[in-house]
Amino acid sequence: MVDQEKIREAVKLLLEGIGEDTAREGLIGTPDRIARMYSEIFSGMEEGAEEHLSKVFAVENNEMVLEKDIVFYSMCEHHMMPFYGKAHVAYVPDGKVAGLSKLARTVEVFAKRLQIQERMTGQIADAVMSDLKPQGVMVVLEAEHMCMTMRGVKKPGSKTVSIAARGIFEKNPELKNQFFQMLQL
Ligand code: ZN
Repeated sequence: MVDQEKIREAVKLLLEGIGEDTAREGLIGTPDRIARMYSEIFSGMEEGAEEHLSKVFAVENNEMVLEKDIVFYSMCEHHMMPFYGKAHVAYVPDGKVAGLSKLARTVEVFAKRLQIQERMTGQIADAVMSDLKPQGVMVVLEAEHMCMTMRGVKKPGSKTVSIAARGIFEKNPELKNQFFQMLQL
């Protein structure tokens, strides 16, 4: 559980640290607003993907399934700034498929934590592998990191792309190509 009291205290200290007057009108409710917001944006801390991926349907043909352009918002653990973009998740079934919205729910479980993009990509792939047990899974995340675009190098619009391949995708370049072709449709 997110400890809202601790967050309220910490935000107050943070405001003092940057030289703000925590008693002024615009800021008086800020510690509480942030505490409540964090309960929502870090709700993935207490969740797993199993419950979403356990509702399956039997299929006879094991053709690749791709769910693309799944919009996600996460928080980078190095700066506690948002990174956000799109996830594309594909898998080759082994006799069963998950409901389509369940892949998006899986992405959300791992986005709503402090993250680094590369780890999140792998966690989504591993969750689909272990909970849905397909022949293979492929995950691509493309995201803009506010910690990069707001300061330092300042390259608005620049994207970080990360990939994770598991199962038959690891050793089958043709299948990988098919995935990238489907992404472009
Ligand atoms: Zn960062």
